[in-house]
Amino acid sequence: MTNKQAFKEAQELIAGGVNSPVRAFKSVGSEPIFIQKAKDAYVYDIEGKKYLDFVQSYGPCIFGHADNDITNAIYEAAKNGTSYGAPTLLESELASMIIDIYPIEQIRFVNSGTEATMSAIRLARAFSKRDGLIKFDGCYHGHADMLLVNAGSGLATFNTPSSSGVSKNAVKDTYTAVYNDINSVKEQINLARKNNSDIGVIIIEPIAGNMGFIPAKKEFLQDLRKLCDEEKIVLIFDEVMSGFRAAYGGACEIYDIKPDMICFGKVIGGGLPVGAYAASKEIMQLLSPIGSVYQAGTLSGNPLAMSAGIATFKKLKKQDYKTLAAVAKELCDFMNEYAKENNISLCAKNIGSMFGFFFLDEYPNNYDEAKKSDTNKFARFHKKMLENGINLAPSTYETAFVCLSMKEEQIKEFKEAFKKAICE
Ligand SMILES: *Cc1c(COP(=O)(O)O)cnc(C)c1O
Repeated sequence: MTNKQAFKEAQELIAGGVNSPVRAFKSVGSEPIFIQKAKDAYVYDIEGKKYLDFVQSYGPCIFGHADNDITNAIYEAAKNGTSYGAPTLLESELASMIIDIYPIEQIRFVNSGTEATMSAIRLARAFSKRDGLIKFDGCYHGHADMLLVNAGSGLATFNTPSSSGVSKNAVKDTYTAVYNDINSVKEQINLARKNNSDIGVIIIEPIAGNMGFIPAKKEFLQDLRKLCDEEKIVLIFDEVMSGFRAAYGGACEIYDIKPDMICFGKVIGGGLPVGAYAASKEIMQLLSPIGSVYQAGTLSGNPLAMSAGIATFKKLKKQDYKTLAAVAKELCDFMNEYAKENNISLCAKNIGSMFGFFFLDEYPNNYDEAKKSDTNKFARFHKKMLENGINLAPSTYETAFVCLSMKEEQIKEFKEAFKKAICE
């Protein structure tokens, strides 16, 4: 079967042919490749074509695909049953591995990043006893109702839902600020106050990966931390993507800032469905069964997912992030130099194993700036890269990832393909 036929069939059976919208390749005006299998740095489609993969399942596969140790751990766990609805030692083992590294005392595992942020916000609202929520324009925290908002203009009193089916009431307490702009946060706090909805929670991707790759400025995050302390606002770092990706200790380590709560996902599940949220004991004790905040899950703390996470952390070393960062930096340096030499509007940047590039002269600092990037150019470039055996996420607003199975040979492959794709 060809990719084209597979997509046609899938579109009959599954809404839009995909189980997550970006996979449909709509924003690059083309059609998806269907994956047959993957190993290390490569994915193979159902037509037998091989691609060097910079999607890495949108982050989870830090060792690359089908790592032998992780695969074996899943297999061994499955032999003992796949789900019990009762606690296991695996949950405590994985919890301690994460708590050792991040500035948190307790954790709760869920099944996706969406669940993690949704539950974290519920808990943060209970702790602050305030309903008002600030998120940043262009940051993505999964698809819970209150997070699906279109930023109104500076003068707009209330934001509107960005998805149909979300009630106006669900986003009534959600305010959006501009990334890397502390004044816009202060404005929103005041605006909320006028609307009798005090801000109790601020959620941010400290290293944004869902408006393309845009890291926060250190000073901005420091100011944000200070503001949250002054206003007694619970600051949530959504490290679903950046956790164990940008650095071993994620953005908390890179910026040396302690948020009040942290959300995890992606890497901590070693490629299986996992999310988690974490905070001090003081905050976490508000959760049921001790406290009054309800949150539950039939498959939460699933033994296969926990085993995949544990196997990941048994192998993963702090040192690995130097290796990953060196590979990502070499790719970015190469793109920046090539663009400069050839008068192409393109700039690239990385932190650790995350990297991004925009068809712009200057690297953007927020969503409005990112939106100026030439999406048609990206669509053409993406198509050419795919033809040359490189799998990039099919949108200019996604981040690219390197994995530990990318070495000299893969760097060379990327560069060769880039040179061909960029000039056509
Ligand atoms: C991927 C992602 C999510 C959502 O996680 P899912 O597992 O897809 O629900 C939330 N926040 C950030 C920063 C993400 O990158």
